[in-house]
Amino acid sequence: MKNRISIVLIVILVTSILMACDNSKSPEGKDSEETAVSASTDITGTQKEGADPALDQIAQDYVRLVLTLGKHDKSYVDAYYGPAEWKSEAEADNASPAELASRAEMLLSRLPQNIEPAGDLLTLRKHYLKTQLKAVAAHAHHIADASFRDFQQEAKLLYDTEPPVQEYAEFDPVLAQLETELPGSEPLHLRVQQFQQQYRIPEDKLDAVFSAAIAECKKRSLEHIQLPANESFKLEYVKDKPWSGYNWYQGNAHSLIQINSELPIYIDRAVDLGCHEGYPGHHTYNALLEQKLVKDQGWPEYSVYPLFSPQSLIAEGSANYGIELAFPGDEKTRFEQETLYPLAGLDPPSAEKYQRVLSLLAQLKFAENIVAREYINGKLDRDEAIARFQKYTVMSPEKAAQRVRFVDTYGAYVINYNWGKALVKEYVERDAETTDARWQKFSTLLSSPRLPSSLYW
Ligand SMILES: [Zn+2]
Repeated sequence: MKNRISIVLIVILVTSILMACDNSKSPEGKDSEETAVSASTDITGTQKEGADPALDQIAQDYVRLVLTLGKHDKSYVDAYYGPAEWKSEAEADNASPAELASRAEMLLSRLPQNIEPAGDLLTLRKHYLKTQLKAVAAHAHHIADASFRDFQQEAKLLYDTEPPVQEYAEFDPVLAQLETELPGSEPLHLRVQQFQQQYRIPEDKLDAVFSAAIAECKKRSLEHIQLPANESFKLEYVKDKPWSGYNWYQGNAHSLIQINSELPIYIDRAVDLGCHEGYPGHHTYNALLEQKLVKDQGWPEYSVYPLFSPQSLIAEGSANYGIELAFPGDEKTRFEQETLYPLAGLDPPSAEKYQRVLSLLAQLKFAENIVAREYINGKLDRDEAIARFQKYTVMSPEKAAQRVRFVDTYGAYVINYNWGKALVKEYVERDAETTDARWQKFSTLLSSPRLPSSLYW
């Protein structure tokens, strides 16, 4: 997953974003995280100055709980690189999902009832554990009894946010602009597919194009973010998956990045996926969490990543926002035109028209939330959902079917890409006018336990 990528600034939600974020909690000036406390027992059991054994025990129990719940949902544990024996112990634990929900609630009762909003690392850590544990409990309850589903409730319980509830009609003006850009009598989604064909990367050029794109994403990110010297990734091409790209973080600053080459891959996706999965996206986020929180602070809870949890909104939102941070303005189009089009054997002068169409397509991303909401809430069946994806996000029938499979597997997760990006963008750009200031804030966010509801602490 970690795939669907918005390219262009979505401005229509600024008001909603401002309403969703409690501005009164916004810290003035510099983030206080840099003056972080140093506390705890590290993952190898070494006692550190200012340790909080009670909190460390909750953190360990949280990791074990996530690993055990992962036995009941194979998509749940996205990454784990903590002690191997915790994994073996979880494997041997036969607790039911209902029992695991009770364990999560027990752990929650050991955390402070109220956590005062503050931007220091220790407070953010407590808030992180509490918020993630609520999501563990909600997911365990859902596995125990999946008879009722509600999109907005899933967003709140699992992702710590309330995405705006939109209507299809809001996207009609964008569809009308696409009609003007690509006139014809066939259904709009078919015209879009035909138009996109000329931007398809030939299969035998995929590796050259992706390698060049990832190298550029990396170069631009490392000018602003310091990663561990040994960081590395492996790139693979796979088929028959419900996502278009995935980062499987392995620990020790190493990622396995998979690209799904089953459906056509268009030229714009190379930089999108290179940034999103790699630099400054998921690979960077995971490597920074491992270095700054697991190794430097000795906090084990970041060595596990439960997919259906608030952390995913920060992960997907930052991975998508990272594209425009690394390639501001028209820099992405220029790089593609000058470097990637020739590598793919495509026609560079046609890049500008493609960019105009892509900008319109990007504005349709939020329509995916409406389809997912209606499908999850039982208002649309599978075929109707496929038809709506085609009509309102102009996906091909094959892509629309893949998207419904995605919603089957990942539920309301789709909000993390578009709404997550909007929230992260608003957070990073608030009071940060220069490129350097934005990278600094972005890098600090990626090294911290911040979740959606602590973005303004
Ligand atoms: Zn992602």
